[in-house]
Amino acid sequence: MLQDLPATLDATLQPIARKLTDHVPLSLDDGLRLCATPDIHGVGRLADFVRRRLHGDRAYFNRNRHINYTNVCALSCKFCSFYRKRGEEGAYEMPVEQVMATAVKAAGAGATEVHIVGGLHPWLKFDYYLAMLRGIRQACPGLHIKAFTAIEIIHFSRIAHLSIAEVLTALRQAGLGSLPGGGAEIFDDRVHDQVFKGKVREDRWFEVHRTAHRLGIPSNATMLYGHVETPAERVRHLIKLRELQAESLANCPASFNCIIPLSFIPDQSELGNLPGPTGLTDLRTLAIARLMVPNIAHIKAFWIMQGIHLAQVALDWGCDDLDGTVVWYDITKKAGSGVHQEMHVSDIQRIIHEARKTAVERDTLYRPVRRDAEDKVLPAMVS
Ligand code: SF4
Repeated sequence: MLQDLPATLDATLQPIARKLTDHVPLSLDDGLRLCATPDIHGVGRLADFVRRRLHGDRAYFNRNRHINYTNVCALSCKFCSFYRKRGEEGAYEMPVEQVMATAVKAAGAGATEVHIVGGLHPWLKFDYYLAMLRGIRQACPGLHIKAFTAIEIIHFSRIAHLSIAEVLTALRQAGLGSLPGGGAEIFDDRVHDQVFKGKVREDRWFEVHRTAHRLGIPSNATMLYGHVETPAERVRHLIKLRELQAESLANCPASFNCIIPLSFIPDQSELGNLPGPTGLTDLRTLAIARLMVPNIAHIKAFWIMQGIHLAQVALDWGCDDLDGTVVWYDITKKAGSGVHQEMHVSDIQRIIHEARKTAVERDTLYRPVRRDAEDKVLPAMVS
C-alpha cells in the first residue's frame, strides 16, 4: 500500500503517511503538523488516500428535507444567526400539523429522510415533540426521522423531568430514527465560555450520544470551525470524537455514522466582525477530520455550509458525502440569501460525476437506495 501513498513535498508528513498505511491512529502532534504544514495539498492527498481506502470511487448523497420547527430559543449563542426571542420580528413556531404536512410533502417528492431541529423553545411541552414524531411516523411509515440535537435532548429532559435515556426511549417509541450531530461546536471550555456560554459543556453532549449509542440509536457529529478556536482545539475535538466512536464500536449496538465539519458563517451573528474561514482552511479542516478520525466511516462536505463549488472539490480532500437535496434550511444563511436552498438530484449527480466519482444515493444509515421505474424507493432499502 505504501506505493499508493502520495509523494508529499513536506518531509514532516512522511511519518504520518507511514502511520496511515499501518492503520495507526494519528496523535495530537500529528494533527498539529497537518495544521501547520505549508504543504496543504499534501494533506489533501493523504486524506484522499484514506477516503479511497474506505470508499473507493463512491460519493454519497441523499434525498432529504430539513425542517426547522422553531427559531425561538432560550439561549443566545454568539455565533448563531438563527435564533429569535419570542415576539421578536421573524420569530416563528410551526404547529405540529405544519411539520407533518412538510414531511408528507417531502416523502411525496421522494425523500427518504427528514432532518428536524430547532431552537430551545421555552414554552413548548415535551408532548409537542412526541406528537410531531408520531404524526410523521403514522403518515409516512417509510420516512427516516433524524431529529433533535444533543442540546435539544437535554432541554427535553429538563422540561419533562426525565433522564436522557428516558427522553431518547420515548422519542424512539414515537418514531425517532437517529440523532443529528449539531450542538457540538468545539469541545473546549475556553471556546465554550467565549461564544456559547449558555449551552451545556461537552460532557453533556457526549452523555447524550453515548446514551443514544447504548440504546441502539445511531447519530452524527459536527464541528463548527473558523471562529475563535485554535487549530489545536479543532484537533482535540476530533480526537474526542474518535475516542467515543471506539467505545461505541466496541460496546454498543449503534455509533456515529458521519462527521460534518461546519464552516462558520459570520453574517448576521454576534461574531459578524470575524472574517470566517477561507476555502483552503475549509479544505484543510475537512481533510484533517478524515485523517484524525478513521473509525467514523463518512466525512460530509455539507454544501450549504462549504458552498457547492468547494464541496465538489472536497470530494478529493477526504470527503465522501455531500448531504442531500435539503430544500429548506434556516439555521445559517449568507447575507441576502433566502432560506429556500434546494439542490436537485440531477445537479448533485452531475457534480459528483464531474469529480470522477460514482454517485450513490444513500439512506440515513448509508445503505444504497434503489428505486423503481417510477422513482419509488424499494421498501427493503428504507429504515
Ligand atoms: S445555536 Fe442553538 S442553542 Fe444556540 S442560540 Fe442558536 S438555536 Fe439557540
